[in-house]
Amino acid sequence: MSEKRPQPIVQGSVLVVGGGITGMSVAIEAAEAGLEAHIIESSPTLGGRVSQLTKYFPKLCPPICGLEINYRRLRVQERVHVHTLSRVTKLQGSPGDFQVTVEHRPRFVNDRCTACNACVDPCPVRRNNDHDFGMSSTKAIYLPHAMAYPQRFVIDEQACQGVSCSKCVEACSFGAIDLSQKTTTETLRVGAVVVATGWQPYDATRLTNLSFGKHDDIITNMMMERYANPQGPTKGKIVCPSDGREPETVVFVQCAGSRDENHLPYCSGICCMASLKQATYVRAALPNAKIRIFAIDIRTPGRLEDFYTKVREDPNVSIERGKVARIDEIDGQLRLQVEDTLGDKIQDVYADLVVLATGMEPSIRRDPLPFDIRQDEDHFGITDVATGLIVAGCAKRPFGVSDSVQDATGAALRAIQCQAGRSE
Ligand SMILES: Cc1cc2nc3c(=O)[nH]c(=O)nc-3n(C[C@H](O)[C@H](O)[C@H](O)COP(=O)(O)OP(=O)(O)OC[C@H]3O[C@@H](n4cnc5c(N)ncnc54)[C@H](O)[C@@H]3O)c2cc1C
Repeated sequence: MSEKRPQPIVQGSVLVVGGGITGMSVAIEAAEAGLEAHIIESSPTLGGRVSQLTKYFPKLCPPICGLEINYRRLRVQERVHVHTLSRVTKLQGSPGDFQVTVEHRPRFVNDRCTACNACVDPCPVRRNNDHDFGMSSTKAIYLPHAMAYPQRFVIDEQACQGVSCSKCVEACSFGAIDLSQKTTTETLRVGAVVVATGWQPYDATRLTNLSFGKHDDIITNMMMERYANPQGPTKGKIVCPSDGREPETVVFVQCAGSRDENHLPYCSGICCMASLKQATYVRAALPNAKIRIFAIDIRTPGRLEDFYTKVREDPNVSIERGKVARIDEIDGQLRLQVEDTLGDKIQDVYADLVVLATGMEPSIRRDPLPFDIRQDEDHFGITDVATGLIVAGCAKRPFGVSDSVQDATGAALRAIQCQAGRSE
């Protein structure tokens, strides 16, 4: 029996730049209302940063649930067209009639791929795994991650030895690998454009006083998401990267670069919750470890306060007021110099593993779009009624997932509104 599908309420089309949780939500919501929707995603898979997380705060459920719900809606939604490995190279026009030139890079693997893995062993080349921030490697032919959408392998063009090797082609019994694929371009005509390009972690190497990059046991909060992940570089074991030992003391450094005129002047509003969540990762993996969180203040607004209260009650977790001014290696140990933000004392704190709670920077700051969008002083995008360019999710400001999804729903409505009555 065929499922009865709801009739479209509106007509028109929308192009969404970025296929993270926000971009997917915009496209699905708009398509379910009747619009044709194109998602233009630069990486080989949808999902964005959410696919790198181990658990979601505050419920501590795995992100696969939220992603899978969206993937299921995508699979049954014929009006959403997903373009991975793609980028907008030119945009012209106005609301109701945008012409968008899109460049599609080759995946070298077609839709006959069953993700069976047979191509992996024969491949002779390894590459750094960007999904794990370079803390692991994959072969040149790889599945981006377990939750990748589409569930299809991809070849890293820079790493692959090309037709002279072809070992993966010989190993694939489905004829899914095509090394002759080339970059193509197409022009799409759409009624609305939504920018959902999300965020990037602030570059911790700029925090020279905190010695990131100088000592392996100083990691960032996003690296911790990967360490704690059963699919991550240590299969979920939390260890000191320098020698693989279990840390006895883990220190979280809040506002690492945030609320600091020299780095990110704003609060991302996420890092306190992320560190509290990651304290629960450490407790689960290493029940005897001591966890210290140093913060100017803890920001867990609204109902998130309950999560803070729960973590604070844990006798192995200590949340202390203090700004970490420096980290050095002294006699093989990490020494943090912590300033008391009320008095003028400085205390020395020693740690086996340090996690820098770095903030969120808009992706368009380091990776600008090929067209102008309005931006605030921190380079977050602003929806502009005059040009009709709509900004959603973390491209607009740092958000958690549920706020990103709510914002996506608003952006889908704007996409409908900005072409209402123009379709005839
Ligand atoms: C340490 C840490 C832990 C977190 N944990 C949680 C949590 O537990 N719970 C929670 O609610 N939130 C959490 N967050 C926040 C969460 O990551 C964001 O809410 C979420 O990623 C926002 O999704 P997005 O789609 O707006 O952006 P992104 O996830 O950044 O997705 C943007 C997408 O756009 C693509 N893109 C970028 N530029 C282009 C371009 N030019 N062309 C095409 N595609 C492009 C990217 O490849 C990406 O796929 C955490 C954040 C941090 C820093």
